[in-house]
Formats: sequence, structure tokens, C-alpha cells
Amino acid sequence: MPELPEVETIIKGLRPHLVGKTIKNIEVLLPKTVWIDDIRATGSVDIAMFKSLLEGQKIDSITRRGKMIIINISEGRVLLIHLKMTGQLIYVNSQQRLAGGHPNADMIGDLPVKATRLIIDLGQKQQLYFNDQRQFGYIKLLFKAALENHKAYMSFGPEPFESSFNEQYLYSVLKKRYRVKIKQLLLDQSVVAGIGNIYADESLFESGIHPARLAGSLSQAHIKRLLIAIKLVLNRGLKYGGTSSQHYVQADGKQGTMQDHLMVYRREAQSCNRCGVAIERMVVGGRGTHFCPNCQPLT
Ligand SMILES: [Zn+2]
Repeated sequence: MPELPEVETIIKGLRPHLVGKTIKNIEVLLPKTVWIDDIRATGSVDIAMFKSLLEGQKIDSITRRGKMIIINISEGRVLLIHLKMTGQLIYVNSQQRLAGGHPNADMIGDLPVKATRLIIDLGQKQQLYFNDQRQFGYIKLLFKAALENHKAYMSFGPEPFESSFNEQYLYSVLKKRYRVKIKQLLLDQSVVAGIGNIYADESLFESGIHPARLAGSLSQAHIKRLLIAIKLVLNRGLKYGGTSSQHYVQADGKQGTMQDHLMVYRREAQSCNRCGVAIERMVVGGRGTHFCPNCQPLT
């Protein structure tokens, strides 16, 4: 699943090509991908409604919340897009193609493909394709006013670069959930939005905290270090256009290079860039977790 830096990179690539354009036509190839408010489309009536609410409308802006992409449409509506594990957004015009999301051959071949779920026609031979092999991704049409109260939205914790994500906040969360392992807390979108497996492992390495440590065992100094480390690794991810290896490529089709700058993630058995000891892998909360046993002691 793309994390904050990967989603932000996709949006940055798509923005100049989508903003200001009018939706001419929408073709829904898999009804269940599409939702209106909080109801999943089931048949032709729902699809006709989805189309009629969107066709002729203009794309005003594209933003992000957590790992979700938000396309703001005229008349106070938004499209909430979650790529989940295998979602792709591909923009094509007569000269170029920009693909973001799960990288596979569908990004470069003829479109539509078997995994194409929805096509937005923007006129003048421009299309936006939403492909999703495993069908976990979605596109929800909501009123902007309802977005803030949407359950996916309400459950989000602060964005990592917001001022509300601070020492006092993190301290209170860790205190309340003192028996939870710190790695699990970082993955919880209600604690902080946008962090997934890659950036959780990387921030724990940067702060010298063992991923299986219980939240309640962290000192004030640990919390300070962790806050700095989270911002540091996310900024690093943004700088290098996210990770690409087996994950996400940039919306301009270029590969992100963050994978070349990872310190622990998927580096098990390789030596730590800081101390030379072999990176280890363990499972924390059901997720593969990478850490340096020397730089990140358990006690
Ligand atoms: Zn080390």
C-alpha cells in the first residue's frame, strides 16, 4: 500500500494534468469499485447516478489525507480514492502517459486492461484510468461537506507534519495505550495518518527504538527522537519520490528512488549502515518488521 510520500508523489505528478479539466464522460467497468456517499454501487441505476453527478463537472484540486487521494470536483463534491494494495492511476493524452501506483505491465501496455475498473474521459484524447487487480481499492463520490464527517476521515489521527502531531499528543497516546508495541501504534491510522510498514520501520531505526518495545516503556527523550525521526524519514521519502521496488512508481512514470536510501526496510541480513551489524527481521502485530539489533536495543 502506498504511504504518505508515495501518495503525495502520485498527486504531485497528476495535479498539472487534471486540475482545471472537465469530466466529459465516465465509464464504470466494475460497479463495486464505485460508491455514492457510503453505498456501494450495485447496478445500472447507481452507475447512471454516479455518471450524472460527475459528467460535465470540473476538477478543482487534488489533495491527500492519510493514504487517500481526494479529487475536489465543482459543485461541492469530492472523489475519495484509495489505491489499497494494487490500485493504479494512469493518465494518458496524445503525447504522454503518467502512471502512479502499483507497478506492473499494465502501466505501459495498451489500455484498458483486464484490471481497469473505471475510465474518466477528460476530452481532447485525455483519459484517467483506475486499474485495480485485486479489487480492494475504491472511488467514493461524496459531498465535500460530508467528507469531514466521513468515517474513514473521522478515524484519522493528525497528519505527521501538522502542529497537532507533537510531543504532548504522542506522549498522551503512548500512555493510554502503554501495552501496545510501538511499531503497531505507528501503523494505526488513528494515531498518525499516512505511515505504513516502510516508514514505521525507518522511523524506529532513526530514533534507535526497538519495534517491539511497549509504548509505555518509552521515555520523553524517546518520544522526542521518534517525532523528529518520523518527519525525517517522510521528508526523505518525499525527496526521492517514494519507493518503487515492488511498490509504487511516480505519476510521471519515473521510478522513485527511496528504496536506495532505506536503512532497514527489506534489508534483513545486510549490514547496518551505522554499525555494521546484520539487520534482522521479525513479525510485530502480523507485519514483517526490520531493525538493527545493535542500534535498536529492546531494553
Ligand atoms: Zn546498527
